[in-house]
Amino acid sequence: MSVKQRLQTIQQQIAEACEKTGRSASDVQIVAVTKYVSIARAKEAIEAGIVHLGESRADGFLRKYEAIGNEATWHFIGTLQSRKVKQIIDYVDYVHSLDRLSLAEEINKRANRTIKCFVQVNVSGETSKHGLAPEDVLPFIETLSAFSRIEVVGLMTMAPYTDDEATIRRCFRTLRELKEQVQEKQLPHAPCTQLSMGMSNDYVIAVEEGATFLRLGTCLVGEEEVE
Ligand SMILES: *Cc1c(COP(=O)(O)O)cnc(C)c1O
Repeated sequence: MSVKQRLQTIQQQIAEACEKTGRSASDVQIVAVTKYVSIARAKEAIEAGIVHLGESRADGFLRKYEAIGNEATWHFIGTLQSRKVKQIIDYVDYVHSLDRLSLAEEINKRANRTIKCFVQVNVSGETSKHGLAPEDVLPFIETLSAFSRIEVVGLMTMAPYTDDEATIRRCFRTLRELKEQVQEKQLPHAPCTQLSMGMSNDYVIAVEEGATFLRLGTCLVGEEEVE
């Protein structure tokens, strides 16, 4: 199936989830996660109307960026090693994986403009997952005021990999409540209006629970081999 056909199906499901929960579909953006696929497939996504591209490794990010450049808005969604920051920071619009002070320091030092960041939260508490514990999120965000190049646009999480819808929903709901707590603080460096949550197997639930950026790989661009 073409990316365009897949995108139509996904957009239909987003529209239904929005309808059901009284949201506006225009508040939900799709980040096409192209880490498994070729440059040609990423370009196909852009031709189908995708604006946002996401990559999870620095080398893959650079390969796609070199081929596509400013035809897309660029999201770094994976764990970011501090030593890789300088390779990618000039090209990144959004970082979804800010999870520690040392990374914030490095981004602040290397960036020559404001970088929109999501603070990654490990809501489920699984040891395999990156991100801050929920109770550490607000104090962490408060310390980020020292970094003039970092704007906390929102929170990001990955739900546990399970078929249990209630567990997934609880995870997304907790992230939304946490986001609301940060918003209430009205911190100038942390408007925190966005929620990066929802992947191929759980994006409908994520939309119902308030996601504003979905990170979609397999269900949108497939998982063909990178050339
Ligand atoms: C790979 C990846 C995705 C996309 O996963 P799919 O299940 O293929 O949609 C989303 N977010 C992160 C952080 C990823 O690494």
